[in-house]
Amino acid sequence: MIITTISELRNYLKAQRAKNKTVGLVPTMGFLHEGHLSLIRCANAENDVVVVSDFVNPTQFGPNEDYETYPRDIERDAKLAVAAGGDVVFYPSVTEMYPEGSATFVEVEGNITRVLCGASRPTHFKGVTTVVNMLFNIVKPDKAYFGQKDAQQAAVLMKMVRDTHQNIELVVCPIVREEDGLAMSSRNTYLNDEERKQATILNQALAEGEKAFLAGETAVEKLVSIIADKIKEMPLAEIDYVDIYDFPSLTEIKKIERQALAAVAVKFGKTRLIDNRILREE
Ligand code: AMP
Repeated sequence: MIITTISELRNYLKAQRAKNKTVGLVPTMGFLHEGHLSLIRCANAENDVVVVSDFVNPTQFGPNEDYETYPRDIERDAKLAVAAGGDVVFYPSVTEMYPEGSATFVEVEGNITRVLCGASRPTHFKGVTTVVNMLFNIVKPDKAYFGQKDAQQAAVLMKMVRDTHQNIELVVCPIVREEDGLAMSSRNTYLNDEERKQATILNQALAEGEKAFLAGETAVEKLVSIIADKIKEMPLAEIDYVDIYDFPSLTEIKKIERQALAAVAVKFGKTRLIDNRILREE
């Protein structure tokens, strides 16, 4: 079932809650793939009712980014979401979410939103926290599901939930990859054949970094250069960042002594891809 208005969704959920049903929320920007579907399946296993939101959120795109061209296909999304265990696909218009005069944002301040993707996308996380906060207010889920693929987003949202005392459990699900290791992403559809081939280097480079770490290398500088050097083997790869931070605080570290996040963002032509690995002792 596709619902497009906040009031209709609220009415539906009120009736479910009256029957004591638990509610899981899976926020997405649509053009669903196996990564999204894994979140929906997980939500379906842990909740009575699953709401999948499908909304390309304009406030999380920068002025020269791909908001206009971001792939969209609501009919296909609705079929896939229902088949994976979604009960409702919430598909609001931009004006439904941001009515005229809307001027309120939710922002997590500090380095957590300034490092990694925050450096090249300075307003991105403000858009993410604003829209996810709206979705939390509308759906009031018991649990909300996010992918480790967007590790910084998960870290920022955990902080938002904690700082704003929201009574919602965040569940972070593992990265789903294509057979050749490329992390699934709606943006993979932008890649031409050669870019698509070379993009597998992200996962390979992170695997090399992980291998070195497990073999005893703990110096961040060294591990970063192992990962970056591997990515540079691909002529079309243009590195935005390769970095390692404590996870989930995203504080700077020189040596890995606790759980850390190795994260990369690399452009292939016009397409910017991200990937990451959690580094921890086996
Ligand atoms: P998006 O539609 O790209 O905003 O993603 C919606 C949700 O799906 C986010 O929580 C993402 O982290 C998650 N997601 C996207 N790609 C993957 C993937 N390959 N594996 C796991 N989760 C993913």
